[in-house]
Amino acid sequence: MEKIQMTTPLVEMDGDEMTRILWGWIKGKLILPFVDLKTEYYDLGLLHRNETDDQVTVDAALATRRLGVAVKCATITPNRQRMEEYPQLKQMWKSPNGTIRAILDGTAFRAPILLPFIHPAVRTWEAPITIARHAYGDMYKAVDLVTEEPGTATLTFRGQSGRETSLTVQAVDGPAVFQAQHNTARSIRAFADSCFNYAIAQKQDLWFSTKDTIAKGYDGEFKRIFEEAYETTYKPEFERLGLTYFYTLIDDAVARVIRSKGGFIWALKNYDGDVMSDMVAAAFGSLAMMTSVLVAPDGTMEFEASHGTVTRHYYRYRKGEKTSTNPMATIFAWSGALRRRGELDGLEDLVSFGNALEQASLDTLKSGVMTGDLAALADPDFPTRTVTSEEFLDAVAQRLAAALAK
Ligand code: NAP
Ligand code: MG
Repeated sequence: MEKIQMTTPLVEMDGDEMTRILWGWIKGKLILPFVDLKTEYYDLGLLHRNETDDQVTVDAALATRRLGVAVKCATITPNRQRMEEYPQLKQMWKSPNGTIRAILDGTAFRAPILLPFIHPAVRTWEAPITIARHAYGDMYKAVDLVTEEPGTATLTFRGQSGRETSLTVQAVDGPAVFQAQHNTARSIRAFADSCFNYAIAQKQDLWFSTKDTIAKGYDGEFKRIFEEAYETTYKPEFERLGLTYFYTLIDDAVARVIRSKGGFIWALKNYDGDVMSDMVAAAFGSLAMMTSVLVAPDGTMEFEASHGTVTRHYYRYRKGEKTSTNPMATIFAWSGALRRRGELDGLEDLVSFGNALEQASLDTLKSGVMTGDLAALADPDFPTRTVTSEEFLDAVAQRLAAALAK
């Protein structure tokens, strides 16, 4: 069989632990036999980040900006415990995802892969709900102040012009807590652009919710900037595709989401997205089935799994055990990236390959062959056969080869 050709390379970011092992198997069994793969390879494994003083992460992000599409393996974000495990670390390197997100100014979209034999905790959900979380500012870049005596807190903005604006936050008669948050119009607009672009790419409705009735100035700006982006830029394309942009208050949105059938994108402020994405992921079933794509305002996309490096499985793997780690979200990162590359370069065969890879993976699961995490969640009357990661990938490869031969 002739291999499918590519023109522009993908940015490939390798990673750590069990997902690095899966990465090699996925490439070897599911990609390289079928595609004449072109990538710019960046090793974001912890030790190589350390050797390059994390320059490799910056280089990978810049390459993504240049080439437009990337696929990333899960990576270790070092903490104190990792500093002991890897004594050669020069410092506690920052999260690669944080670095990449800052360079691309992107928004992360998380969506579950659904299966007919695993039922979401919410009975009415039939289609995936994709959560778009604003990844800058608010509580995550706030300053906190804990005070002990009666007094008054004020908030002052000093403009470059020298003009000052001051507000009294609160006069208190005893110990108190204060917090000051910010966001920037530029970041909010970039968030809006990413959301509208992604909704158009996915041909799904976009919901956005804040609490602008209470935070009239703060959340009011979020609402206004989204509306402005819609009215001035995206409305014609939304109307052409029959899509809806829908704004509502966060509490109303929560109630509507629970009663919905799913199948839309829900854009949320940083904290709301943090909380809601974990709730939605848990309600859909398994973390191992959550995909994630970082979308820059210009449409640049980086695809990955939502889960981490699955450390506990890796330790067992290193002892020589066969593990039943679920590769689905990582496979879908590859299929998503190849499909996007195909769309941008006008390569129908590459687009079809991305679709065929996903279909072969889903068909394998529907045949009952799956990793242990899914077998534990499946309907009790659905016959399952629990396999190792490698056995699962071999089964997918067989189906894929048969489908492509047709
Ligand atoms: P994790 O790697 O997501 O794994 C947590 C647990 O979830 C696993 O022990 C496993 O449960 C289950 N799980 C996750 N993915 C699975 C899969 N594909 N198949 C089967 N089970 C799966 O989270 P973590 O252990 O908290 O973090 C490990 C490392 O990943 C950390 O160093 C962290 O910094 C990093 N991390 C990276 C990213 C990223 O690069 N995007 C995201 C999150 C975390 P059982 O052990 O019960 O089977
Ligand atoms: Mg969270």
